[in-house]
Amino acid sequence: MNEPSCVFCRILRGEIPSQKLYEDDATIVVRDVNPQAPLHVLVVPREHVQDIAGALQRQGGEERVGKLFSTAVRIAADQGLAAGGFRLVVNTGSDGGQTVGHLHLHLMGGRQMTWPPG
Ligand code: AMP
Ligand code: ZN
Repeated sequence: MNEPSCVFCRILRGEIPSQKLYEDDATIVVRDVNPQAPLHVLVVPREHVQDIAGALQRQGGEERVGKLFSTAVRIAADQGLAAGGFRLVVNTGSDGGQTVGHLHLHLMGGRQMTWPPG
């Protein structure tokens, strides 16, 4: 279900412009509007689901979440990050720092990351 007010659903419907790197029948990959690294993209399932816990509860959820990760790793390789490395982040819920309630993976790379994150 496409949630009318959700920013990623609005991007998926073409109501908000985005810089798309990749899309298939299940997923889109767009540049983050507020990048935190030289490469910072969001891997977003077309299906509106609140977060990774909700996604995993659905029929076929583990397979679909697995495909999201494999898409992210493939994009990382396509963008030349395989050798140097990259970071995948799934912010979940309020304490997790999630600000958009539509599951997405952050793929970041192109600089040295630090730990712990804020
Ligand atoms: P999170 O805090 O994990 O929920 O991440 C949401 C991300 O979406 C943030 O990094 C925002 O910069 C990004 N974001 C919000 N609106 C847009 C937009 N219209 N296009 C691309 N990225 C966006
Ligand atoms: Zn949505």
